[in-house]
Amino acid sequence: MTGRTESALRRQIIETCLGMNRLGINQGMAGNVSTRLDGGLLITPSGLPYDGMKPSDIVFIDKNGRPKGEQNPSSEWRFHYDILRGRKNAGAVLHAHAPYCTALACLGREIPAFHYMVAVAGGDSIRCAPYATFGSQELSNNALAALEGRKACLLANHGMICIDRDLDAVLALAVEVETLARQYCQALQLGEPIVLPAAEMRRVLEKFETYGKPQDGE
Ligand code: 13P
Ligand code: ZN
Repeated sequence: MTGRTESALRRQIIETCLGMNRLGINQGMAGNVSTRLDGGLLITPSGLPYDGMKPSDIVFIDKNGRPKGEQNPSSEWRFHYDILRGRKNAGAVLHAHAPYCTALACLGREIPAFHYMVAVAGGDSIRCAPYATFGSQELSNNALAALEGRKACLLANHGMICIDRDLDAVLALAVEVETLARQYCQALQLGEPIVLPAAEMRRVLEKFETYGKPQDGE
């Protein structure tokens, strides 16, 4: 957890939403963002533009799934709630209609290990969850299954979800995943991308455990 106060987290959720639109990984009122808070989670309201959103518009959802706030919680509160309940190391969840992720998801395609950076999402692919209506429990169930052992997934005919330790990390991960989706779409236009073997991706995943982190004695 970040140790930030509730009001700082409310402001940071709005910053994250403005950031995802500014960075081109989402547009308009699509998408939603949540972060863990003692006794539950904080989540963006449903159908409200991010420009002009106030900290008091962010909705609290308690550990029993009951919302408390001035606005309605995001229609996708179920998968935010289910993910944060099921993944103890996750501190934040981001859902976006990122253009290249969504293009692949509209074909029901996953992102295979065409690039070693696919390991950034925790495995040797970024799966695509089967389609279910937005806001449904079925969509949440499908997303949770696609996220098993992973930090990102695509949602068929819809978009993508990323999870990470906090709001900064989840926004950075979402940019990485959308970049991979764009590169994969571009590679597909040139031919059939070469997929790295499972053994190589295992090696990359192992290296990622220490990558960028100072080692003892160094
Ligand atoms: P909300 O505005 O209810 O969060 O919905 C946006 C969205 O992306 C639904 O999938
Ligand atoms: Zn959506």
